[in-house]
Amino acid sequence: MIVMCPHCGALNRVPEEKLNANPTCGKCKKPLFTGQPVEMNSEQFMKALTKTDQPMVVDFWASWCGPCKMFAPTFAQVASQFEPRARFVKINTETNPELSAQFGIRSIPTIAIFKNGQMVDQIAGALPPQQFAQWVAQHV
Ligand SMILES: [Zn+2]
Repeated sequence: MIVMCPHCGALNRVPEEKLNANPTCGKCKKPLFTGQPVEMNSEQFMKALTKTDQPMVVDFWASWCGPCKMFAPTFAQVASQFEPRARFVKINTETNPELSAQFGIRSIPTIAIFKNGQMVDQIAGALPPQQFAQWVAQHV
């Protein structure tokens, strides 16, 4: 599988059976999975979308959005449960408005799942942790 390093953005080829063995980046030597969501800008996200093989769970958020802040710990908690099966990504819609436009994000928070370069599902609004984890599990 092709995995993007959350620290330096390098693309790493990792055999699927090694995903759970704490793989590190060939370039910067840092862990490829930290159990934490990764903040990405448009450029990083489009690279991950087009060049990597992992499903991505994406939180479209904004700093002024109260429900987004309330949902952030849930997103982080579920990220730690699902890595390395999926990459959890945060997109700030204030600094990356073109991504929201491209993917038709009309309200925030919106959580979307991408597989094979395509959005396969999205939900608007925050879910409690257990329901959110169930929704992710349907797709990854
Ligand atoms: Zn790296």
